[in-house]
Amino acid sequence: MTAKIIDGKQVASKILEDVEKRVKTIKETPGLAIVLVGDNPASQIYVGFKEKRSKAIGFYCERYNLDKNTSQDDVLKLVNELNQNNKIHGMIVQLPLPEHIDENLIIDSILPHKDADGFTPVNLGNLVNDNNMLLPATARACLELIKSTGMKIKGKNAVIVGRSNIVGKPTALMLLQENATSTICHSKTKNLKEHTKNADILVVACGKANLITKDMVKKGAVVIDVGINKVNGKVVGDVDYENVKEVAGFITPVPGGVGPMTIAMLLDNTLKAMELHKRVRVL
Ligand code: NAD
Repeated sequence: MTAKIIDGKQVASKILEDVEKRVKTIKETPGLAIVLVGDNPASQIYVGFKEKRSKAIGFYCERYNLDKNTSQDDVLKLVNELNQNNKIHGMIVQLPLPEHIDENLIIDSILPHKDADGFTPVNLGNLVNDNNMLLPATARACLELIKSTGMKIKGKNAVIVGRSNIVGKPTALMLLQENATSTICHSKTKNLKEHTKNADILVVACGKANLITKDMVKKGAVVIDVGINKVNGKVVGDVDYENVKEVAGFITPVPGGVGPMTIAMLLDNTLKAMELHKRVRVL
């Protein structure tokens, strides 16, 4: 068996086309602010993609490149200004932040209805309550890619490897909402293979190249590889793609899988944030 490749670029471009169409039907222009602190090369690339895509579909985008030594107070001040700025409907603060800055404090300071990444405690808490507002973009990306295969999620065993607040946990909760049986595995999980081998849906978000090998995957499973690793100058995921595709039913490539979809979901979130913004202004 050779897995069908889930083309993240193609699924993302459909979503972006839809967002662009919706933007053309409204008078206001959705505004996205992107805050980057420091000079992490990977973050610079991701932020570049986000800025380019957002402008291409008709968004207004402000990008702030702050020096790596910027104080926590100055980052907080900028977030507060963006919270008050009516041209900005959604904002992201690119992670990771330099060590002297408390990431939780910065994320907590973003108004929940402007939280385009869906990382604030209010938005994550709403997800736990099945009261979705703005959901984490990468978790949304995983769910959309799974749905794009046509697989019925209800009743399936979903195994998520990785328990971060921005990918693993929200993805598990979203699959639970879809009536899958979600299991989260992490670095202290014993016998990882016993869990992954039982997965109809396997989402891997660890940042460990080739962690998931062919013998760990159930025949016909949908495999979503979130990981981004650099090995010998090449970008690879967490899944041993060439061999796992011999047993999986569907698989995402890296690059070209979850990455482009995350940007599409971020921009969809920004448009949704604009709708929420209107409601907040009315209140
Ligand atoms: P993180 O570093 O916060 O967490 C990694 C998780 O992996 C932890 O929960 C840890 O317990 C688990 N883990 C580590 N080693 C393990 C092992 N041997 N067995 C089982 N679990 C193990 O990660 P994150 O922020 O969720 O990111 C994960 C990966 O996804 C990274 O490579 C990151 O670059 C990538 N990522 C990609 C996108 C995208 O758009 N494609 C978005 C976000 C993150």
